[in-house]
Amino acid sequence: MTGLKKAATIVGNWKMYKSIEESLDFIKEFLPLIQNAITANSPKIYLATPFTLIKPISEVVKSTPIVIGAQNMNDAEEGAFTGEIAGKMLVDSGAKFVILGHSERRTIFQETNAFINRKVKRALKDGLQPILCVGETFEDREADKTAAILEEQLTSCLESIKPEEMKTIMIAYEPVWAIGKGFAATAEAAEEAIKICRSFIEKTFGAPVAEVVSIVYGGSVKPENCKQFLEQPNIDGLLVGGASLSAETFSKIINYQEELVR
Ligand code: PEP
Repeated sequence: MTGLKKAATIVGNWKMYKSIEESLDFIKEFLPLIQNAITANSPKIYLATPFTLIKPISEVVKSTPIVIGAQNMNDAEEGAFTGEIAGKMLVDSGAKFVILGHSERRTIFQETNAFINRKVKRALKDGLQPILCVGETFEDREADKTAAILEEQLTSCLESIKPEEMKTIMIAYEPVWAIGKGFAATAEAAEEAIKICRSFIEKTFGAPVAEVVSIVYGGSVKPENCKQFLEQPNIDGLLVGGASLSAETFSKIINYQEELVR
């Protein structure tokens, strides 16, 4: 690491919440609250919305720096896959990125590392920036297996990815035990795990790639704890679930530098 931190990327994940009307109300309330944060040094703002909101929200944020994306996609280009969505459909709706391998997809929908790897490759082909989620369970952590699990997930999910492609992929370290539970990892534990991910990227894709790849932390981030993560040298941003649903709360995270001064 050069010691020079990139501008943070803060990704909101709305999961399966919000109607079109509720999402438009959110944007109306949110934009004035983040006006001061729209400068060169301020965080990049990503919002992963439900599929139905990608088009309407992309249209209303067109002239703002907010980047809209999806929370999942299929690995096929198109086909007879009832209920699934293709990357090119997401692009057509206005999505710029896609979250892949979220722990809720891995546990509730039994997504495997091999399937996630195919999705990463398809997203790149379709022109979407993948945000690849990795993270250990509570049992893994208790058994001292965090590093092994992270390396296994990264090895499989990034199989046959080229270094140039890797530069565009964002990694989200999300310990499963901290997601939606109200208790986050400590900043030191998150930094330690993210260092493991960055070393893996360095070993596999080379130091120049490891230097530019954004690795963010996710798991019960709130306005009260966001700053401590963003101050860590290896943490390039945050993935925020519950706290991104309220415009007021999410704006406090975006404005974390301002909050510092208060
Ligand atoms: C998430 O959805 O990825 C997440 C981290 O959720 P929460 O912030 O609610 O823990």
